[in-house]
Amino acid sequence: MCGVALAGIMAGTAHQPADAGVDNAETTTVAAGHRPDACVPAIDARLADPSRSALLPEGGDVSPGQAAEYERQLREALRPLRGQEVEPTRVVPVVVHVISASDGRGNVGDWQIRRQIDVLNRAYRGGYAFGDEGADTGFRFRLREINRTVNDGWFRDFNSQRDRIRERLHRGGADTLNLYTTRLDSGLLGYSTFPQDQKSKPKRDGVVISYDTLPGGDRHRFNEGHTATHEVGHWLGLFHTFQNGCDEPGDYVDDTPYEREAASGCPRGRDTCRKAPGEDPITNFMNYSEDACMTHFTRDQGKRMVDHWRAFRSGANEEAEQEGPDPRLAAVAGGGPSVDVRTTVTPDGTVEVRASVE
Ligand SMILES: [Zn+2]
Repeated sequence: MCGVALAGIMAGTAHQPADAGVDNAETTTVAAGHRPDACVPAIDARLADPSRSALLPEGGDVSPGQAAEYERQLREALRPLRGQEVEPTRVVPVVVHVISASDGRGNVGDWQIRRQIDVLNRAYRGGYAFGDEGADTGFRFRLREINRTVNDGWFRDFNSQRDRIRERLHRGGADTLNLYTTRLDSGLLGYSTFPQDQKSKPKRDGVVISYDTLPGGDRHRFNEGHTATHEVGHWLGLFHTFQNGCDEPGDYVDDTPYEREAASGCPRGRDTCRKAPGEDPITNFMNYSEDACMTHFTRDQGKRMVDHWRAFRSGANEEAEQEGPDPRLAAVAGGGPSVDVRTTVTPDGTVEVRASVE
């Protein structure tokens, strides 16, 4: 049985993310250039400066072996679903966990969260694309709950406590996007788990982003909300466009040209795999380019995300529905405009505020 991989995004370029080193079955230590075996958990992160890849938590770079193993699991999970009809759109419930400091740092506004959801919806329907480069992936996102936690220790160092924090805060089933905003180390913009690992580590499933990457945040060149766009791409099964460099099978997507390494800034016209057709897909959301440079997912990336959704996330959705509605949302389900806010102070001084949105 394989472990968990995370995929993230760094701002900058040069080489691919590697792992900072961790201590449990979900995570793995990967030095830059080292290839872990196929069954080691990975994450995929986005870094502001890929040269600072040591910042990455969990698996960091997805090795060729890990990618192949994920592909095998995908094919296996899709086999029994062959021939089934695929709905044109899928609505993903989103629970946003805001982790902030007692002095107010990181306490992003509801308006920023709503704008972030808007950015996701626009990106996944092809709304940033030029001409016919992009596709409507069919994914839509609906804010279900904002869960605010004030905890200085968590805010100061999320990564070393991420398993405990996520296990405590996680909500919903495999179809629910748990999006955590907190402070991350300076070069790290965000990271994500992969759908193949949801079943074995359901409470760690989700996306973590630096709070200043939300639309209107302070992160220079990375404050238009596409760190979340990128990480959710991993959460739905996509690899980076530079996965496997110029070597087959690349990122397992037919309509994204091969690319030797991550892009930084917005290097238009770059072509790092001269023997393969097409210039580098530097404007693809699954690259490391700065936010303003990123415009689209391709049609085949959309299909690949749908495959992952059907294989690993939508089935769990049905099971969750059979269990009945979450009692904490009962007040909301009753109708009316509806924000249900509850505040909890735990013995260790953590203040949690949940707002259910319907
Ligand atoms: Zn990434």
